[in-house]
Amino acid sequence: MARATGSVCKVCRREGLKLFFKGERCYTDKCAYERRPYPPGVHGQGRAKVTDYGVRLREKQRVRKSYGMLERQFRRFYQNALRKKGVTGDYLFELLERRLDNVLFRLGFSKTRAQGRQFVRHGHILVNQRKVSVPSYLVRTGDVITIREGSRSIPAWAEALEFSTRKTLPDWLECDREKWIGRIRELPRREHVGETFKEQYVVEFYSR
Ligand code: SF4
Repeated sequence: MARATGSVCKVCRREGLKLFFKGERCYTDKCAYERRPYPPGVHGQGRAKVTDYGVRLREKQRVRKSYGMLERQFRRFYQNALRKKGVTGDYLFELLERRLDNVLFRLGFSKTRAQGRQFVRHGHILVNQRKVSVPSYLVRTGDVITIREGSRSIPAWAEALEFSTRKTLPDWLECDREKWIGRIRELPRREHVGETFKEQYVVEFYSR
């Protein structure tokens, strides 16, 4: 399976915001974006003229990279959102939030979406008591997410759960961290996504 490689901190610096790819480190003063809040490369601190196209491209990249997706898959999500009646940007975020790797991250079962993706691929996650190993699986209202009993001794879970006590659980999810159970209370809406993305630019980028 194709995946993005390379320095994730450079992605934050390129996109001009913290995307929290590294769990705890992102909240410390070791964060590369805090120390060097300008794009990487020798011309990173130069003044570049940004076109309208560039603004929209950057916003699309921010959203896509934040959810750790490659271009083809992200475009497919956008096209699915476009087919629905209503506001395309809102549907796009609904679909992105419903991804299983994102749900693990939001529930606090993983420190990052990338870690959630790995947990899913390695077969540690059950949805409604059935193993799901596809990170882009879209959860539905009422779905129950659990960690396979035999996988609960992995130290990474304990670290993730300990880290998650510092995070707020979104309203659309329920979680019993002691019993390792998460539940989808309702489908996510745009206002549930804390990040300040400009989805209108994403729509404009793909509609050009
Ligand atoms: Fe981004 Fe900072 Fe985390 Fe690196 S440490 S991934 S720059 S937020």
